[in-house]
Amino acid sequence: MSNEISINASLEPFSTFRLPATARELVVLEDAAALPGLLDTELPVLLLGGGSNTLFIGDFPGRVIVNRLRGIDSEVIDRDRVLVTAAAGEDWHELVRWTLDRGLWGIENLAMIPGLVGAAPMQNIGAYGVELAHCLESVEVFDRHTGRIERLAASECGLDYRHSRFKAEDAGRFVVLDIRLELMMHGTPVLEYPSLLEELERHGHAQPDDPRTVAAAVMRVRKRKLPDPAVIPSAGSFFKNPVVDNAFAQHLIDRHPGLPNWPDKPGSTKLSAGWMIDHLGWRGKSVGGARVFGRHALVLINAGGATGSDVMKLAREIKAGVQEAFGIELEPEPVLIGNSLLH
Ligand SMILES: Cc1cc2nc3c(=O)[nH]c(=O)nc-3n(C[C@H](O)[C@H](O)[C@H](O)COP(=O)(O)OP(=O)(O)OC[C@H]3O[C@@H](n4cnc5c(N)ncnc54)[C@H](O)[C@@H]3O)c2cc1C
Repeated sequence: MSNEISINASLEPFSTFRLPATARELVVLEDAAALPGLLDTELPVLLLGGGSNTLFIGDFPGRVIVNRLRGIDSEVIDRDRVLVTAAAGEDWHELVRWTLDRGLWGIENLAMIPGLVGAAPMQNIGAYGVELAHCLESVEVFDRHTGRIERLAASECGLDYRHSRFKAEDAGRFVVLDIRLELMMHGTPVLEYPSLLEELERHGHAQPDDPRTVAAAVMRVRKRKLPDPAVIPSAGSFFKNPVVDNAFAQHLIDRHPGLPNWPDKPGSTKLSAGWMIDHLGWRGKSVGGARVFGRHALVLINAGGATGSDVMKLAREIKAGVQEAFGIELEPEPVLIGNSLLH
């Protein structure tokens, strides 16, 4: 299958939201040596991992390259630290499992995030108080501007909350070939999320000394709250949690004391977008086949036969409602292809 280009290929199997859309060309990349040739086209190019953060609102008039580069390797640096390098086409959760099998600390809170390793730096994946940035050492990229392979230090990736230079000023410039993590043999659990701590306490593990215990708790919480993409098509959280200045956050919290909030960078507070959407009564509501997930208002799902315009209409209505009620402009978290902006 590698390097065989399919024409007018369906993208439905390549995105977890499973919207009906096609790519003018689609090719599976299994050997990094083939990459320069595949990038050498007049067509727009889109790199795709597991498609769990990409919604094809419309057809893609270019070449989709589906990354399937494989391989995981590790190197012990000292008594505490291990460098783990994983190719971009490895499954993220399988990588988490690989590290847990070796007793390594660092990405246990990120268990069960769908998708592949190469997309992890794109939006600096995060869950339960941990972000990739906490342990990313470097990223190997193919730079489309220079045609060269380079290793970028984590500090050069512009990582922030669901953000990086790869999806901002350098969108489309770099193809991620691998990521390298610095993990610990003797770590400290990050238990700042109340739902995770409660889950651990319920199982008698208030102070876990094994990353597998933490990951198991994360997985139980996620299974209760989030749709399994293999069963219910979705892209996870549809909107980012808004980050606002402390004074405005306090004003909203005074009006809505139940609004969950977390300290962010100095002077700013992160607010729960899911709570706001839920508060406005959106849970379970649909537009065509697009629906607000019944167990988590931040997640939109494809309840059957959803089209790109169903999703956009539902998203626009939610966004307008939140703007009116809370004065906050929500931003979509997934990459929306085939639709310029969520206005
Ligand atoms: C049920 C569910 C739960 C989720 N929970 C979380 C969560 O807790 N935290 C979180 O952060 N995310 C979460 N997500 C979102 C998603 O899983 C992550 O963003 C994941 O990293 C996406 O990986 P992917 O391979 O599927 O990316 P894709 O959707 O394939 O790609 C995402 C973006 O990265 C680009 N890209 C992919 N691979 C490469 C590459 N090798 N080089 C250059 N660009 C590339 C694509 O062009 C696209 O712009 C969830 C999604 C679902 C469906």
